[in-house]
Amino acid sequence: MFGRAPKKSDNSRYYEILGVAKSASQDDLKKAYKKAAIKNHPDKGGDPEKFKELAQAYEVLSDPEKREIYDQYGEDALKEGMGGGGGGHDPFDIFSSFFGGGGNPFGGGSSRGRRQRRGEDVVHPLKVSLEDLYSGTSKKLSLSRNVICSKCSGKGSKSGASTKCAGCQGTGMKVSIRHLGPSMIQQMQHACNECKGTGETINDRDRCPQCKGEKVVQEKKVLEVIVEKGMQNGQKITFPGEADEAPDTVTGDIVFVLQQKEHPKFKRKAEDLIVEHTLSLTDALCGFQFVLSHLDGRQLLIKSNPGEVIKPDSYKAINDEGMPLYQRPFMKGKLYIHFNVEFPESLSLDQVKALEAVLPPKPSSQLTDMELDECEETTLNDVNMEEESRRKQQQAQQEAYDEDDDMPGGAQRVQCAQQ
Ligand SMILES: [Zn+2]
Ligand SMILES: [Zn+2]
Repeated sequence: MFGRAPKKSDNSRYYEILGVAKSASQDDLKKAYKKAAIKNHPDKGGDPEKFKELAQAYEVLSDPEKREIYDQYGEDALKEGMGGGGGGHDPFDIFSSFFGGGGNPFGGGSSRGRRQRRGEDVVHPLKVSLEDLYSGTSKKLSLSRNVICSKCSGKGSKSGASTKCAGCQGTGMKVSIRHLGPSMIQQMQHACNECKGTGETINDRDRCPQCKGEKVVQEKKVLEVIVEKGMQNGQKITFPGEADEAPDTVTGDIVFVLQQKEHPKFKRKAEDLIVEHTLSLTDALCGFQFVLSHLDGRQLLIKSNPGEVIKPDSYKAINDEGMPLYQRPFMKGKLYIHFNVEFPESLSLDQVKALEAVLPPKPSSQLTDMELDECEETTLNDVNMEEESRRKQQQAQQEAYDEDDDMPGGAQRVQCAQQ
């Protein structure tokens, strides 16, 4: 690659075609392509060559890998890389991927057939408890969806005949123009309301009695969603091709997005679990044991080692009692216990004496009388640090405000001096 220094224009033409900066984000590219492609669509009287160029430029720049090659070495490098002919997908497939809703813009162009739309994916959130994600579960959900009418096979009429929609001349689309300013217009394309974007209308008498010419009928369907052990919040469970059916459309997917509900006791961090536990000072110093019921109902006995001291805000871990790993449910993360230690508010003098007798000697008792004679006595007051800093902040704000008040006078003086 060292031999071929790219010409300057070699790797900027695609950006110019789309009218975006080289630093354009994927979102910018999408918007720019969509706008230009609608404007230049051959069905709307646009230039087919320009339309093709747009699709080509977008195809390359929307693919991070191809974009990097293009940025470094230009168009020619891509042509070589794609095995001749510049690769290239049907510009109509690329275009229609924008109006079919989601999906891979370059996926399955040939098998779907040119200009076949892709139906929209239907996305449902699915709330699950941490227990569900720990043990796995299945949920039956009843949904209603459109399916192609069986009586007319989606033609909508008895005879199969239809007439071109007068509202859109059979294109299924209407273009409206919005004036945004004196020299700015926005062109918007939307589905024709008279034929619902199909481009055809059916004679009243010829309408299919089952779907009343709608081509689709509603059907109830029960889907069983399997929530596997170890699945994560936000993970998707997809039922391919189970969304609404429509004529000449590749049916989209039904997608469930897991939403993990908050658990009152356990917090989850990827494959680990965290549980808060408060110990009394005696527990923390002299040992403890307690029972924790786990997410699957097992009772875990958790106890300290003899002689072990638990410090406030410290963690201990139990291996293999965290969350199961997705698709490797026999492996589990850790269960962390975060300890809080509750200290007594005060002690009686007897208690102090008894403690002093057993605890390690105090360094403070080593101060000599002579050292003490040279010191000044102080008092320790109770204090709430949060409140303290809040008060200080308010004070600072008030002072800044007071200073602002002085400003007009100062500004005026400057103005006078200038005149
Ligand atoms: Zn129409
Ligand atoms: Zn029908």
